[in-house]
Amino acid sequence: MKTWLKNPLAILVDDQNDARGGIVIENDKIIELIALGAEPSSPVDSIIDASEQVILPGLINTHHHFYQTLTRAHPDAINKELFAWLKSLYPVWAGLTEEMIHVSTRLAGVELLMSGCTTAADHHYIFPETAREALDIQVDAINSVGIRATLTRGSMSLGEDEGGLPPRNTIQTEDAILTDCERVIDQYHDASEGSMLQVALAPCSPFSVSENLMKDSAVLARQKNVRLHTHLAETHDENEFCLKIFGVRPVDYLERVGWMSDDVWLAHGIHFTDNEIVRLGKAGVAVTHCPSSNMILGSGQCPILDLEKAGSPVGLGVDGSASNDCSNLIQEVRQALMLQRLRYGSAAITHFDAYRWVTKGSAQCIGRDDIGEIAVGKQADLALFKLDEARFSGAGDPLAALLLCGASKADAVMVAGEWKVKDGELVDTDLNGLIAEHTAAARALTH
Ligand SMILES: [Zn+2]
Repeated sequence: MKTWLKNPLAILVDDQNDARGGIVIENDKIIELIALGAEPSSPVDSIIDASEQVILPGLINTHHHFYQTLTRAHPDAINKELFAWLKSLYPVWAGLTEEMIHVSTRLAGVELLMSGCTTAADHHYIFPETAREALDIQVDAINSVGIRATLTRGSMSLGEDEGGLPPRNTIQTEDAILTDCERVIDQYHDASEGSMLQVALAPCSPFSVSENLMKDSAVLARQKNVRLHTHLAETHDENEFCLKIFGVRPVDYLERVGWMSDDVWLAHGIHFTDNEIVRLGKAGVAVTHCPSSNMILGSGQCPILDLEKAGSPVGLGVDGSASNDCSNLIQEVRQALMLQRLRYGSAAITHFDAYRWVTKGSAQCIGRDDIGEIAVGKQADLALFKLDEARFSGAGDPLAALLLCGASKADAVMVAGEWKVKDGELVDTDLNGLIAEHTAAARALTH
């Protein structure tokens, strides 16, 4: 089955002229770029007129906590910085059940899809007694959404009584964590080209995980050839915690536990010294920028251009929905553009930079070379936007307009050659039913 998406209003490719006539999809892959006025090299089965649509590669979200959609704008947590915010929410999250994890994963998945996201990484690190098999639950839920996913098996092992931040009823023993990590990698990780589901290991943060677990997670991940993820250098409080407990700053700690490597991607990456940026870049450590979360919690700004210049790939993430408090990836691209302009100036950051972070940069974060780009041989993951809302009326450059005028909703989304969103609506999910189910779960968790 070959489909020609013909004559798009604009398309994000390295050279616009290569694909002004559109692209041809066959099954789950992009097989041809068509120059303006040209025809596909062989007959196609269907032609879709894309003349009112801007075509982007499917956007890639590289840091999230799906379950946090259940505690958005929680009254005990709003208007706080990270550590106080976490301490308010840990006791609530300790009540998560399997049903809550399932519905929150589905809700976040479709929220992302509708914003143009085709691949999402999630970092689930709460495994209370009521939901020990949280990752298995997430696998089932995310498969039902049809979005491509990297599910990271998160973990917390350093409780309050040992100097950590989380309460005891939210952590697990190192043995239990590592056993489950190995099990879920063996059971679910698919490393093949076009994979719909990958697994990575993600001890939560320096202030919630023991040093041994950081080291042992790295050993296991390398044995199994999966990637490593964690939160790092998010706040000044974290710096102080690392100096006090480990006697070193976060990047030195990262090095000490064997994580200074190109199979690692970090969430946030804000409070680095110049020298630390050079070391991270040299090692090829990737960083996920989460602008909304950083602004809501007042954490600071990720030095993206310095990191990229040093050699670190940089991607984007919406972060957990209790610190964003939404899961809209195209809006996050606009946030990144604006926050980074505040740091580097508007001449230094173009809309193409912001698109690079959420496509190729994000793909590098999660270690994939089959997505993140509209090019022959890549997966057919696409996000199509129309400029027919009032906010776009009068807009000149379509690709710039999506970000500058503030697009928030994709018109159509394709994952692995299949339409998941059409005419702005989900193809195979009853959204109102899902919202009702999710709202009830949130009430049960927070009351
Ligand atoms: Zn996070």
